[in-house]
Amino acid sequence: MQAVHSGQCGLCTHFGETHTKSDMLVTILSSMKADESLLDDCGHPRHAALHLKVTPISGCDGFVPAAQA
Ligand code: SF4
Repeated sequence: MQAVHSGQCGLCTHFGETHTKSDMLVTILSSMKADESLLDDCGHPRHAALHLKVTPISGCDGFVPAAQA
């Protein structure tokens, strides 16, 4: 497990946005820790068509903080 910081995919609203919010994503938000080998879809409109897959510790300037469930 690795710490996830603001600006990184694990805390971004677009991380895993293309599917139903899983318990895993909620746990990352509440604990701010994640398995860095986890891969999920980025649903950002500029990445979704490319089916970009990212890890919780990836990031980009399209970061939007996820709302706490
Ligand atoms: S790649 Fe950018 S937009 Fe996509 S989940 Fe990560 S921080 Fe968010």
